[in-house]
Amino acid sequence: MEATQRATPADAPATVVEFARSYNERIVRQRHHQPLFRSAVIHAYERKCAVCRLPFTELLDAAHIKSDAEGGPAKVANGLALCKIHHGAFDANIIGISPDYVVQVRHSVLETFDGPTLQHAIKEMHGERLRQIPQSRSEKPDRDLLAERFETFRQAS
Ligand SMILES: [Zn+2]
Repeated sequence: MEATQRATPADAPATVVEFARSYNERIVRQRHHQPLFRSAVIHAYERKCAVCRLPFTELLDAAHIKSDAEGGPAKVANGLALCKIHHGAFDANIIGISPDYVVQVRHSVLETFDGPTLQHAIKEMHGERLRQIPQSRSEKPDRDLLAERFETFRQAS
């Protein structure tokens, strides 16, 4: 409430007020479901990164396969527990995950040589199956959502 009032002063132009209102609504909506989504996804992956099994909760995110903004459902099957590196790489289409749960690394990245993080954390994951996925069938990554997302990765490659 207070944030809304601060962000929308009475004398602000209508467009600014409208922008601030939709921004605030978006933030509030995210705040309502994101902690639940995050904890459900991290739990389903037993607190490990799906790609590399890094076991530090502090370094794990609940990534969306299909984003909230694109209408992706807020359910575990639309999520992946990913460490910060693999979440960033997934969002930037540096890595993709095929509908049969195999990690693919963008070709231009495979041809780049620069240091141990690139080598071990990124390039060596190419062609590997996801190392950590949920036990429960209903929580495994949704293959249709992955297929849609993987197409975006392929077009970006
Ligand atoms: Zn990872």
